[in-house]
Amino acid sequence: MHYSLKTKLSLSYVLVALVSILFVSILSNQFLQKQFREYIQENQEDTNLAVVQSISQQYLGEDQWNYNSLENIGVNALAKGLIVKVTLASGEVIWDARVHNNGMCQQMIEQMAYTMSAHYPGIKGGYVEKPYSLVAENQELGKVEIGYYGPFYLSRNDLTFINTLNKLNLIAGLLSMLFALMLGILMAKRLSTPISRVIDAAQMISQGYFGGRIRERSNTKEICRLTDTVNNLAQTLENQEILRKRLTDDVAHELRTPLATLQGNLEGMIDGIWKADSDRLKSCHEEIMRITRMVGDLEMLARFDRDNLALDKKQLDMAVLTGAVVNNFQSQYLKKRVSLNFSGKEELITADRDKMIQVIFNLLSNALKYTPPGGNVDVSLTGGTDSVQIIVKDNGIGMDEKDLPFIFERFYRVDQSRTRLTGGSGIGLTIARSIVEAHKGKIEVKSKLNEGTEFTVILPKQVVKE
Ligand code: ADP
Repeated sequence: MHYSLKTKLSLSYVLVALVSILFVSILSNQFLQKQFREYIQENQEDTNLAVVQSISQQYLGEDQWNYNSLENIGVNALAKGLIVKVTLASGEVIWDARVHNNGMCQQMIEQMAYTMSAHYPGIKGGYVEKPYSLVAENQELGKVEIGYYGPFYLSRNDLTFINTLNKLNLIAGLLSMLFALMLGILMAKRLSTPISRVIDAAQMISQGYFGGRIRERSNTKEICRLTDTVNNLAQTLENQEILRKRLTDDVAHELRTPLATLQGNLEGMIDGIWKADSDRLKSCHEEIMRITRMVGDLEMLARFDRDNLALDKKQLDMAVLTGAVVNNFQSQYLKKRVSLNFSGKEELITADRDKMIQVIFNLLSNALKYTPPGGNVDVSLTGGTDSVQIIVKDNGIGMDEKDLPFIFERFYRVDQSRTRLTGGSGIGLTIARSIVEAHKGKIEVKSKLNEGTEFTVILPKQVVKE
């Protein structure tokens, strides 16, 4: 069974309210009623003592009593539910409520028993008689027996008080439950609205619409993280999508030129407009070589993109690594009559060996391509406390300032015609920059047209994980 957040939250709020109200009302009821009973019992005792006291005041001395007042007291007490009997030490009874009005006494007792059993069936009470000694002028004159409904009797007023209390408890309970229900629904709404929004956004993303973002901010931490995560996911997917489209566009664009040249040449030859001489065939072959190189570069880019995230980092000496790549290039440089020099001492860094080789390789092959015979290429390695710096400096053809911001872009070539000769496809620097940035480093370029170019790679010695 699946319940909505709203149902679950509201129900649990109501449950909590219900349980706590139940506890509070049971406890308060027990406690209050106990207090109240004790209070009533004390009250009863006080009333009894007051009656005894006023009776003792009616002693006039020398066995004389104020019988009138005595009767008054007795009648008043009877009206309050007390059946009083005053017996002197001699055994003489000077007041007895039952003698005075037995019918009324009987009726009172019955009435009290009825009220109590109707409202407090649990309390086993009954008519009790309690004796008090009658003391006046420091002599014990006899005893006063007071009969009443015990252990305590609740008058109509007392009962009303208790009923009101219970009613108040009930009303408070109902109100709190209503409040809990409202609060539960409100809280659930505040939680479920942003969640529903995230669900909508995620659904849009899964259908391929990456443009939408969740803008509303919630003040719940987890929900904020959830919206951020979904927004980031959308952003990543959108970027990937843009990259993918651009790559396809670029590849199509790059292939079109050599293919069109090839097609033109071949059609010309088929139609007999051009002779299939070795020059023409050579030119066709060059175009094919160009396409082949480009496909090779693309393969490399794809391979690099694929394992880009997984850097196989190990400690290595940058001087040894750079020196080895420089050595491998020596024969090619020699062939073109460009001199290649390397200077640098041991510098240990933590990095991916193969990818570092790739970076130096791309820079050195560019320097060779764009430096005419007789030129120089200097490679130098220097180290600081936290980073190492590799500089590849040539005195080749250089680049115009306006091109510098773009040379690291995929397929960007400074000058189509000159690159056609040298045969680059414009992704060597893209790869180099991606590798350096994956190592949290930087690659910079300085160049002047016809003077030369200087590439600087700065790499942290220790790649800190994010
Ligand atoms: P390519 O395969 O065309 O060399 P890169 O991404 O390696 O592609 O370089 C992009 C462009 O930057 C090149 O086409 C070239 O015009 C320019 N460039 C790169 N290195 C140098 C350099 N050392 N001297 C002059 N121009 C350079």
